[in-house]
Parts: sequence; structure tokens; C-alpha cells
Amino acid sequence: TNWVEGRTVLATASGQGIGRATALAFAAAGARVIATDINEEALSSLSGEANIETRRLDVLKDEEVKAAVQSIGRIDVLFNGAGFVHGGTILEMKDEEFDFAIDLNIRSMIRTIRAVLPGMIDAGGGAIVNMASVAGSVTGVPNRFVYGTTKAAVIGLTKAVAADFVARGIRCNAICPGTVESPSLQERMRAQGDYEKARAAFIARQPMGRLGTPEEIADLAVHLANATYTTGQAYSIDGGWTI
Ligand code: NAD
Repeated sequence: TNWVEGRTVLATASGQGIGRATALAFAAAGARVIATDINEEALSSLSGEANIETRRLDVLKDEEVKAAVQSIGRIDVLFNGAGFVHGGTILEMKDEEFDFAIDLNIRSMIRTIRAVLPGMIDAGGGAIVNMASVAGSVTGVPNRFVYGTTKAAVIGLTKAVAADFVARGIRCNAICPGTVESPSLQERMRAQGDYEKARAAFIARQPMGRLGTPEEIADLAVHLANATYTTGQAYSIDGGWTI
């Protein structure tokens, strides 16, 4: 089915990487996409694309999220893309870094879901797709203590929302990617000093011998929004990492 056709999608972190590809994929499937990000310059690369409206939205700000949802009106699909990778072990973590990751990786999704759910319920249903990761509860990854902890929580909140609202027509699923080519991954590779060595190490985690593309993840996001008999699931899309 192409359930998303003609429906309205609110997407976060659409400026680059997986979020940008996902906004384009929903638009290509015939949805009306409200593509949001804090980075307006990155967002502007989507302006003029058919079926896409762009708008600045900081998912750390509850009032901004509520105001955006209020002004958009009916929202059928929520794509929660925002997330941040923190590197290091539990011994290297600073409490402020953990608090920030809780805010951006977990509470951002709580804010958007709380804002859109009443409208979805009134309309008879809706689909929520959350960006998690294989790093977390699917598999433990070295030097990803903060990240893995928050992404495990994304899977937990996904299942909790799915369980609470399954009878009201709400579907809520999570995507768990392996390593995907994106601007922030590029930054992490550069930050390690030896770019080629860092890239080779990321590729070595992927049994398929390559990184995933944002478009491959975007396809799954659209699929999950369309998957009218699927809820509460965490879908791995990881190049064989967790075989
Ligand atoms: P990215 O990290 O390159 O881009 C993230 C986007 O989020 C940026 O455009 C940024 O401006 C936006 N953003 C940051 N703070 C924000 C805020 N407060 N409000 C609104 N937007 C904000 O993108 P990516 O690497 O494709 O990652 C996208 C999602 O996928 C994240 O949740 C990430 O954790 C998850 N993920 C990525 C990978 C990967 O390998 N790239 C793997 C697994 C999961």
C-alpha cells in the first residue's frame, strides 16, 4: 500500500543525512512533507522540492514543537530523525554530555510524540517512525556508552507508545541502522585525525563491506509509515552487522 500518499508528514532533522533523504522519499511517495531542522542553511537545500515545505524547528524546545504542530494542523506521520552521537565509555562521559544526549536523543521524541498524538488519535490514527540504532539494545558497541544508552531508550519508548495506542490506530516503529554515510559521520571520521583509517574501521564493522546510504534508510522509513499491520517493532538495517 501507499498509505502515505496525500498525507502530511512532520519530519525532524531534515537538513542533512538520513533525515534529508527521508523527507525526499516521503515527498516522492506523494506525501506533503513539513521538513524541519535547526540548521536553516542545510534545510534550504530542500526548498523548491515538490511536496516539501521547510521550517526551522529546534526539537530541544517544547514550546517550539507545540507551536509547529498547532500551526501545521493534521499530521498523519511523524518522523523523529534528530539524534547525536557521543563517543566514549562510561568512564569518559561527563554528566552534562549525558544530559544533553537524553535531551536530544530521547526527550526530543517525547516532545514531538506528545504534541502530535492527540491529533492523530482524533483523526483515527497515524504512524510514528523513530530513528534508533543497532548500537544500544540490539548490540553493544565500544565507545558508544551515552549513544547506545539513549538509542536503547528510543526502542523502549517506541514499544511503550505502540502498546498504549495500538487500539487507537497509532503505529509506532523504530529504525536501527548500522553505519550510514552522513555529514556527521564524515565529521566523526575527520575528527579522528587519520580519515582513511577511521573510514576503514567503520567499514570493517559492516559485513557487506560498505557503509549504508541515507536513501536506503529513507526507504525503510517510508515502508514503516506504509506498513499498516506493523507496530512496536525495531527494524535493523545494518549491512549484516547483527547477523
Ligand atoms: P546527521 O547527524 O548528519 O544530521 C543530524 C541533523 O540533525 C542535522 O541536520 C542537525 O542540524 C539536526 N539537529 C541537530 N540538533 C537538532 C535540534 N535540536 N533540532 C532539530 N534538528 C537538529 O544525520 P545522520 O547521521 O543521518 O543521523 C540521523 C539520525 O539517524 C540520528 O538520530 C542518528 O543517531 C541516527 N543514526 C545514524 C547513523 C549513521 O551512521 N549515520 C546510524 C544509526 C543511527
